[in-house]
Amino acid sequence: MVDCSSGWKCCGRKALADKVVEADPPRPEGGSTSKKAGARIDCCCGKVTIELAASKPRGHVQCACTECWQHLAWAEKQGGPKAAKIPDGIYFDNAFIGKEGEITKGIEYLQPTVLHGGAGTIRVIASCCKSTMFATSAGYLGKAIAVYPAGCKLSNAEDFPLMLRMSMIDYDEEMRGGPPTPVEKGVPVVWRGAGGMAAPRSGYNITTRMTPIFATSVKYEGYPVAKLMERLGETVDLQQPDLNKPHKALCSQICEDLKYRYPGPYIDPNVQRSEQEPLTAREAD
Ligand SMILES: [Zn+2]
Ligand SMILES: [Zn+2]
Repeated sequence: MVDCSSGWKCCGRKALADKVVEADPPRPEGGSTSKKAGARIDCCCGKVTIELAASKPRGHVQCACTECWQHLAWAEKQGGPKAAKIPDGIYFDNAFIGKEGEITKGIEYLQPTVLHGGAGTIRVIASCCKSTMFATSAGYLGKAIAVYPAGCKLSNAEDFPLMLRMSMIDYDEEMRGGPPTPVEKGVPVVWRGAGGMAAPRSGYNITTRMTPIFATSVKYEGYPVAKLMERLGETVDLQQPDLNKPHKALCSQICEDLKYRYPGPYIDPNVQRSEQEPLTAREAD
């Protein structure tokens, strides 16, 4: 397994309640030579570097859905960094730095993937070391890309409080090797994910917290992910099994959603978070 320590640290701060996501003022010129660079995504072996225009995230969620985990677990099996049981997803403006369709280093290693046919999220990996560099989806409405700090080295990104943990319906202790990682008290933990908007409690939390991530326009100078994707090869279907459970009848979904209470564990505020919740492969060996 490769060593992959993200420079990114999660917050020890209180949950973001209903704060509206505001972006930084725009960069003067989106040039890659600018000293005021945004977030940087490196693959774990150092062959690939991607720079984003924004250093301030648009949002931060933890997604316990089958596919976020399954992708990182697949990558780990191929020699990539250790998968997180519930990955953090950090959203940034859909604005890449540099010449359109170029990245700073190692574009030849970038490989778009989907877990299986019909999967909506494209996760772009670095083929050299099976790092996961970013994810893109039509559902992001062209406004954002997502980065899993567990799958790559994310640096020069501002801290952003966790807004939501979702999709606990998919969390399978046996499959993921034990109970969930602790979460900070006050962060809403909901049963369904974005695909389960019929679920009233989950849907309310997802809508209020995540809508601003995809509603606000791109504030930074840079080129969009679509331009980069044009330069990359065909999306590879990893042909992994579709582990999504079939939806239950609507009435029982609503009931279960309303009934769901996260049983813990929670982060102990008296202990350093890094001792409780490894975000990257750093602590895994
Ligand atoms: Zn690499
Ligand atoms: Zn997910």
